[in-house]
Amino acid sequence: MNFNRRDFLKGLGLASTAWMLPRQLSAQSAPPHVIVIGGGFGGATVAKYLKLWGGNINVTLIDRNAQHYACILSNLVVTGALSMSRITLDYGTLKSKRGVNVIQGEALEVDPANRRVNVLVNGQYSAYPYDKLVLAPGIEFIPPDGNYREDLTPHAWKAGPQTLLLKQMLSSMSSKQTFVMTIPKSPYRCPPGPYERACAVADVLKRRKTGCKVVVLDANPSIQAEPHNFGIAFNDTYKGMLTYIPNAGVLSVDSKTKTVTTAAGKFTGHVLNVIPNQRAGQIVTAAGLANDPTGRWSLVNPLSYASPIHPDIHILGDSQATGQPKSGHMANAQAKVCADAIIRSFRGEAPDPNPVTSSACFSPITSSKASWLTASFQYDPGTKSMKRVEASFAEASSATSDGMQQMFQWADNIFADSFK
Ligand SMILES: Cc1cc2nc3c(=O)[nH]c(=O)nc-3n(C[C@H](O)[C@H](O)[C@H](O)COP(=O)(O)OP(=O)(O)OC[C@H]3O[C@@H](n4cnc5c(N)ncnc54)[C@H](O)[C@@H]3O)c2cc1C
Repeated sequence: MNFNRRDFLKGLGLASTAWMLPRQLSAQSAPPHVIVIGGGFGGATVAKYLKLWGGNINVTLIDRNAQHYACILSNLVVTGALSMSRITLDYGTLKSKRGVNVIQGEALEVDPANRRVNVLVNGQYSAYPYDKLVLAPGIEFIPPDGNYREDLTPHAWKAGPQTLLLKQMLSSMSSKQTFVMTIPKSPYRCPPGPYERACAVADVLKRRKTGCKVVVLDANPSIQAEPHNFGIAFNDTYKGMLTYIPNAGVLSVDSKTKTVTTAAGKFTGHVLNVIPNQRAGQIVTAAGLANDPTGRWSLVNPLSYASPIHPDIHILGDSQATGQPKSGHMANAQAKVCADAIIRSFRGEAPDPNPVTSSACFSPITSSKASWLTASFQYDPGTKSMKRVEASFAEASSATSDGMQQMFQWADNIFADSFK
C-alpha cells in the first residue's frame, strides 16, 4: 500500500491541516490541477512548461481575451511600420500541442482558504478549484488626478485597441503640431519602452511631417534605461524637435483639452500620450497580495514565485516585486523557474536553490536602426533575493541596422518560446 504524507497526517487526526501542504504526485492520485490567470508572456510560458516538464499535471490557462496582443514591437504598430497581426499571439498551439486547457474568462476573485478562483465565463460565474494557482495578470494603471480619459489621451501601454487609437492619432497629426508624452515613476512595465516610443514617434514625424515637436515629460530624474543610446537620440538624432524634461511627474491631466500639469509646468499637445503610474494586476491587489512597501506590487519567494502569504499562490511577470525588470523576456524566464518549482513541489522536492533569470529589450531608435539592453540575475542566498550579475548588464554601443534584424529574430524567439 502506498502511504503518502496526506494519509499519514489523516492518521494523526491532522486532516484539517492537509490543505496547507503541497499536493504530491503519486501513481494513485488524480493529477494535480494548476490554474494560471493571465495568458501573457508570464502566464503562457508557465502553462506551456508545466505541461512540457511536468507530465501528469492538468493546466488551465484563463485570459479575458481570446488572443494576446504583445506589447513587444507595439511601438512599431503605433508608427504604422508593423500591422497588429504581427503582435497578435493565439493560444492554438498551447491547446493542441501542449495540452493546456485554455478558457476565455475574467478572473474575479481568489478564495485561498478553499483553493478556488471565481471566474466569469460567457456571462456565467464558475468556481475553479486548484492545487496551485499562478497569477500573471500584468499591470493595472493608477489613473492620474483631473479629468483623465484613456479614450482621449491613450496610454497604449497594454497592446490592443489602445495601440490602434494612438496610431490613428499620430497619423492624423499635421505639420507643426506637438506630440506630448509622459513617463511614469519607476518601477513600470518595460524600463526602455517609453524612451523607445519617443524615438519611434520622433522618427515617423521627422520623415513624414514638417516642423513637428515631441515633448517627453519624465517623472524620473533621468533616463531609466539605455541612457547612452537614448541620450544620443535625444541630443543628436532628434535635436531641435525632441525636448526631454526630467522630474516632470504628472500632477493632473485634462484629457479634453489634452493638457497635462506636471512638476515641471503645464503642457498641451495635439496628441497627449499619458502613460500612468502602474501597479500589479487587479486580481493580485484584490487578493491582498500587493504587499510590497509601496502596496503596489507583490512580494514573492524568487526560488518559486510563491507568495509568503499563501504559498500555493505564485505571482510572476510584471506584478511581482523581486527588483527584476518588468519585461516580457523576464516574465518568460520567471515562468520557467516557477514551473520547475511547482513540479518539484508536487514531487515533494525543494525548488532549485540557484535560479538564474535574464532579460533583453530591443529598442528601435530610427526606422532602420535599433539598440539593445541585457541583464541577468542570480539568486543570492545571503539576502534571499535576485541580484543583478554586473558582467551581464550592458547596452549596445550604438543603434545599428544589425540590431534591427536581431530585434525581429529575438521577438520571434520569445513569442515562440512563450506561446508555441
Ligand atoms: C511599448 C512596449 C514595448 C515593450 N518592449 C519589450 C521588449 O523589447 N522586451 C521585453 O522583454 N519586454 C517588453 N515590453 C514589456 C512586456 O510587454 C511586459 O513586461 C510583459 O508583457 C509582461 O508579461 P506579463 O505576463 O506579466 O503580463 P502581460 O503580458 O500583460 O499578460 C497579462 C495577461 O493577463 C490577462 N489578465 C489580466 N487580468 C486578468 C483577469 N482578471 N482575468 C483574466 N485575464 C486577465 C491580460 O488579458 C493579459 O493577457 C514592452 C512593453 C511595452 C508597453
